[in-house]
Amino acid sequence: LTTPQKPQVKAKEPASPPLPRQNTKTAPPSPPRIISDPSGHLQYHRVGFLGEGGFARVYEVKDNHHKRYACKVVTKESLKTKKAKTKLYAEIKIHCALEHPNIVKFLDCFEDDDNVYMTLELCTNGSMMDMLRRRRRFSEPEARFYSVQLIGACHYMHTHQVIHRDLKLGNLFLDSNMNIKVGDFGLAALIENPGERKKTICGTPNYIAPEVLFDTANGHSFEVDTWSIGVILYTLVVGRPPFQTKDVKAIYERIRENNYEFPAERPISAQAQALIQTILAKDPQMRPSLHEIIDDPFFTRGTFPSYIPASAFDSPPDFR
Ligand code: ADP
Repeated sequence: LTTPQKPQVKAKEPASPPLPRQNTKTAPPSPPRIISDPSGHLQYHRVGFLGEGGFARVYEVKDNHHKRYACKVVTKESLKTKKAKTKLYAEIKIHCALEHPNIVKFLDCFEDDDNVYMTLELCTNGSMMDMLRRRRRFSEPEARFYSVQLIGACHYMHTHQVIHRDLKLGNLFLDSNMNIKVGDFGLAALIENPGERKKTICGTPNYIAPEVLFDTANGHSFEVDTWSIGVILYTLVVGRPPFQTKDVKAIYERIRENNYEFPAERPISAQAQALIQTILAKDPQMRPSLHEIIDDPFFTRGTFPSYIPASAFDSPPDFR
């Protein structure tokens, strides 16, 4: 892997921030054309391939009533260690308990001899990452629309004691109506005791909050998602992440120094700049609450579209 965005990284040693691993795995065998749960009651026909992440391959499937879903497939071969199993169980436990219009719906989970299958709501319009590649950057009304949905989902997760810990454009999917669906709970954490702090260094380089990397003694909590929302908002309106450079270590150095700028060749409004700067506070306690973000003039004073038309795939919609 050469791009710093892709790897989800996990490391225990605070002294060595995570670096992307080489992806040496070979492609696992395809799951059966007809995927059935052990009772045989549920049958899904595999009709297409949607994508793959660090741990799973995701297929489009249809049930016997022709209803379409996404099916996330994890090979049992990859679940040989206790750690891998614990991680998948945690993802399933957290994701299946969440129900919100802007979170990918978790429908069912079963296994056969070779794989574990999770059926999910299908997001037919791909990820925000794909969308950004097509559009290069978004207009501020569009950024408002998408970020309000993201913040709503995040508020719901936080009130249910869940920290997502890997919010990024590649984990924000779009349904057929161009609404955001937050997905991939592979790094999510459940806060079981109030005030509990998490210590594992994890996330995706461009989006990792400084305290995850550099305050490992204290740990981190919900504010890491707020940080990622700031990075996402910047990325939507500027077109690239704020701390991006070729070298991952240099990204971490920039995050540590809070070193980013608003490029003159991609101008954004003073309100957008001010909000992003407030959210990207190095000290997690100084970051605004999700309510404060939504009440910011960036959201309350600008054009707020009621929906995003499909034409937005190719060009900025005219919301006048
Ligand atoms: P991992 O947990 O292994 O990182 P992801 O959940 O990120 O896997 O999924 C990998 C890819 O599969 C995504 O980048 C996306 O292209 C596709 N995908 C995942 N979930 C869905 C979904 N609900 N609808 C459509 N495509 C999906």
